[in-house]
This record gives sequence, C-alpha cells and structure tokens, in this order.
Amino acid sequence: MDEPQRNPGETTAEPAARPAGDDTEQVPPARPVIVDVRDLRKVYATPEHKVTALDGVTLQVAAGCFTAIMGASGSGKSTLLHLVGGLTAPTAGTILVEGHDLAQMSDRARTIFRRRRIGVIFQEYNLLPTLTARENVALPCLVDGRPLRDTRVRVDELLEIVQLQERADHRPDALSGGEQQRVAIARALLNNPAIVLADEPTGNLDSKQSRAIWQLLRDIANQHGTTVLMVTHEAQGAAFADEVVVLKDGKIIGKFEPKGSADAALVATRYQELAG
Ligand code: ADP
Ligand code: MG
Repeated sequence: MDEPQRNPGETTAEPAARPAGDDTEQVPPARPVIVDVRDLRKVYATPEHKVTALDGVTLQVAAGCFTAIMGASGSGKSTLLHLVGGLTAPTAGTILVEGHDLAQMSDRARTIFRRRRIGVIFQEYNLLPTLTARENVALPCLVDGRPLRDTRVRVDELLEIVQLQERADHRPDALSGGEQQRVAIARALLNNPAIVLADEPTGNLDSKQSRAIWQLLRDIANQHGTTVLMVTHEAQGAAFADEVVVLKDGKIIGKFEPKGSADAALVATRYQELAG
C-alpha cells in the first residue's frame, strides 16, 4: 500500500507558549507546517555547464498561510515551486509536504499525492480548448478515474467561489484571460488540495483581473485553510500575502510580512532594499 495518507504534518509552526500557571485556552493552537523545506539545492547539469538554481533554501509554511515568492528572473522561483510540487527532484536537501517526503515516495505514490494534495496554476491557463469551463474544472476527477457525477456538486461550488456560474458552459476562447485563470484555479481546487502553487498567475492579466486573482487566492487561504505559494513580480500582488520571501541567486535573502493588500508601496520598498 503505497498510497499516501492525508494526515497533517507532524511538525508545527510557532509552538504555542503559555505562561506558567495559565490554564486558560487563550492561545490558539499552532497551525501545522504544511511545506517544510530544508537545505534545498538544485543543480541543473547541461552538457555545457552546471547551473545552481537553488543553493541551500530552508523554508517552512504553515497551513492556511499565503506566501509570495519574489526575485529577479533566474533567481530560482519556478525551481522552488517545481520541487515543492514534486515535479522535479532535489539535488540535495529535503521537502516534506503534509509530513510526506516527496523524494522517498514511489513514482506512483508521488503522482497520486500530487494529484490529490497539490493544486498547480501557471501563467498560461492550460485549459483544454474543446471543453467548457465546467468540464475543465471537472477534469482532475476524470484523470483520477472517478465518474463525473461524483463531482457535480463540488464543481458547482467551485464555479461559485470563482464567480463563474454564469459562464460555466462557455469554452475557453469565449472567456477573458482573467476568467480563464479563474477556471484554472477552480480546477486546481477540485480535490481540495493542501497547497496551491501559483507561478506568476497574473503574468498575462491586466491590473483589474490580477486583483481578482490575488483576492481569490487570499480568500482560499483564509476560508479554506489552503496553503498558497505564489511567485510574482508585482508588489501589489505580494501585498496580499502573509509573508513575502525574496530569492536571489538561489538563496533566500530576506522575508517580511506585508500588513495588507493596500501595502504595495511598502512591499516595493522592502523588496528593493533586499534585492537591490
Ligand atoms: P525564475 O523562475 O526565478 O526565473 P528558474 O527557477 O526558472 O528561475 O531558473 C533558475 C536558474 O536555473 C536559471 O539560471 C535557469 O536558467 C536555470 N534553469 C531552470 N530550469 C532549467 C533546466 N531545466 N535546465 C537547465 N537550467 C535550468
Ligand atoms: Mg519562473
């Protein structure tokens, strides 16, 4: 039986310290760490040369936390997301997702784990052009070998979350970029994943549609406890996150916590200070 279990990780963020003698229940329980990355290195070896894409990255992200990853082009952002998503193997270091070591899993177990526990969103929406929005959202269920009727209620619920009930029967070419990305987000959420990985999800969108996507990711983290990791170049988008992690040359060079979505100017300043 190599199918992964769905229990949360064993480690926890910020152990809830209570003063001695205080037996009231005022301190909320610590949230489990969902993504636990230690000393991660990734070296891509090509015939001509070696590229160190990640050079000792350690990062813990708690359940329901929205983390933005910023950094110049080539700093290792996509590589980090791919490693956390189990799409590529690390050269060294460990990655635990919900307490499971992805590198130790069999290929089959990792594939099933990815499909059920990790939702992925890219800059390109990757929708199937011949399917309607509703059918695209339901696609992971078909891939998983389950009948469509099992997910009808869930698909309707998701179309409501992304506010596309009215457009459910449209094909991608009849939808705006922002609407297509919302379909892709609904699809990523179908199996109620523990984490959503979003690699520059608003790279092709105008500012109004981008805001809708950032707000949606924020709501998913707040309301559904989903852990969100989003790569972005935009300070306005990063301001929606609980924490901003800045990468440079494959290393984390700083972290800070924006104070809300109106905090874009502060995020831009902090990022400039760190990344130069
Ligand atoms: P970012 O997403 O921050 O732009 P990436 O993680 O895509 O950065 O890339 C980090 C570095 O690794 C870059 O120098 C890039 O050229 C290199 N790289 C990424 N993917 C590959 C690959 N498949 N083969 C070789 N080099 C790669
Ligand atoms: Mg990238």
